[in-house]
Amino acid sequence: MGLVEGKKAIIFGVANEKSIAWAIAQALHKEGAKLAFTYAGEVLESRVRPLAEGIGSQLIIPCDVTRDEDIDSLFDKVNGAWGGVDILIHSIAFAKKEELKGRFVDTSREGFNLAMDISAYSLIALAKRAYPIMAGRKGSIVTMTYYGSEKVIPNYNVMGVAKAALEANVRYLSSDLGQDGIRVNAISAGPIRTLSAMGISGFREMLNHVETKSPLKRNVTAEDVARTALYLSSDLSSGITGEIIYVDAGYNIIGM
Ligand code: NAD
Repeated sequence: MGLVEGKKAIIFGVANEKSIAWAIAQALHKEGAKLAFTYAGEVLESRVRPLAEGIGSQLIIPCDVTRDEDIDSLFDKVNGAWGGVDILIHSIAFAKKEELKGRFVDTSREGFNLAMDISAYSLIALAKRAYPIMAGRKGSIVTMTYYGSEKVIPNYNVMGVAKAALEANVRYLSSDLGQDGIRVNAISAGPIRTLSAMGISGFREMLNHVETKSPLKRNVTAEDVARTALYLSSDLSSGITGEIIYVDAGYNIIGM
């Protein structure tokens, strides 16, 4: 029997086969979960649908997390099909390209609000709809963060502030939803070459730096992250909530 056999999971954040969310989806699928996928916009549908159908998913639903009507309609559809949900994977972030280079002090109000809305508020918006249909099912919500929330990383800028908010969301949500048996955790992943990551100026240097300085002397892969997401989604982590777990080849422990 698989680690998440028969559990029902909604996956937010597949853009293509390099997405961390796709690696997580594959890990959950291998261990017996049933999956629903979301995509943000028609362009992405053409990439997400073949991947999702390839592993037998029948629920492939549009959802732009800045639109409450999209989120409501998504949860109606999922609940209609499944009558509840056990796992929610939130692997979503966005900031305008111009905010991910140059000086942080130049962050625009609009750029700040957009990054916060998509990358941090969306976890609350999704949890709000998920908890009534997750309650009593030992539900698990997992989101994706990065060390730039705690320390200054060149060019990460407004996304660092959004990730700090996201990590605080994890703690407040886990405190709220624990009474319904729902756990909320984040994975703080090391840099991985994905579509979003390529938007960060100087990303290659981040990879080189981790490879030289981290205890494991390598970068992590989306599969490394997916194995921890599987653990956090399964009953193996039944006593863990409100945590930020590093999957970063140990980089965060290094002082010099
Ligand atoms: P990705 O580009 O594959 O995934 C980002 C996803 O966010 C995409 O699927 C995109 O469609 C989605 N998204 C953006 N705006 C949206 C909106 N309005 N509504 C719905 N979805 C929207 O990149 P990824 O690296 O797999 O990113 C996944 C998560 O992992 C992000 O939260 C990212 O910050 C985090 N993360 C990434 C790294 C890395 O180095 N790649 C490291 C640590 C954390």
